[in-house]
Amino acid sequence: MQIKAGGIDEDEYSRLKLFEWFDIEKVRKEKILVVGAGALGNEVCKNLVLSGYKNIDIVDMDRIVKANLNRCIFFDEGDAENGRYKAEIVAKKLRKLKRNAKIRYYVKRIEEMPENFIPSHNIVLGCVDSVEARLHINSNCYLFKIPYIDGATHGQIGKVHVVIPPETSCLECGMNSTHSKILQKRFSCTGRDILYFEPKIASDINTTSIISAIQVQEVLKITHGLRNYIRNIFYYDGRRNFSSIFELPINKKCPNHNDK
Ligand SMILES: [Zn+2]
Repeated sequence: MQIKAGGIDEDEYSRLKLFEWFDIEKVRKEKILVVGAGALGNEVCKNLVLSGYKNIDIVDMDRIVKANLNRCIFFDEGDAENGRYKAEIVAKKLRKLKRNAKIRYYVKRIEEMPENFIPSHNIVLGCVDSVEARLHINSNCYLFKIPYIDGATHGQIGKVHVVIPPETSCLECGMNSTHSKILQKRFSCTGRDILYFEPKIASDINTTSIISAIQVQEVLKITHGLRNYIRNIFYYDGRRNFSSIFELPINKKCPNHNDK
């Protein structure tokens, strides 16, 4: 391909368009929901907008505190001092990054949103730290057949769970009653005795960036109908220089696959 000096630089997505599968029109049309505007949410939103997504809803009820500042690109000290809402600031900064983007934010728990809210999106990204929120998003996405990309981190360990209903298993497929009891106390689980995550042990920005980048990479595949998406759990351990994919089969006893 001959590249004319200056010409290709005028197109914001010229580099992405070098991927033969990349279609900016498909990307622009996608209606994305990001639940959680903390560390993962900041990175996920940044990567979504830089990848061309411009129609994004953000849901988060928390306020910014100083402890967020070491891994949230969109927050500053003033936001923490003034106790601004995470969702509001992320939305404001995304609009700066992309002037024609349609970014809406909701200062609420996802469980408080109206029933028709989750189904009004094409893809959902989970960037939350509560098991209740995760399971709420998971069951709604499964019911309405919306792809759900869940991210979680713990120190230098993280995972991405890709749920494509009805093709794949869901977050709940790997849980049993023991898991459920533990999960009432702890916020995240890879599903198959691989690892449980303790609450309030935040990750560093590097692990957060890796996990959020994998989440948005999966969104791009789904938008373009590519079949090489992760089945189903990408697991990363930065301490051991280890990453792998774990397949989680559909569990017939999981309530999300039971027609009744
Ligand atoms: Zn399931």
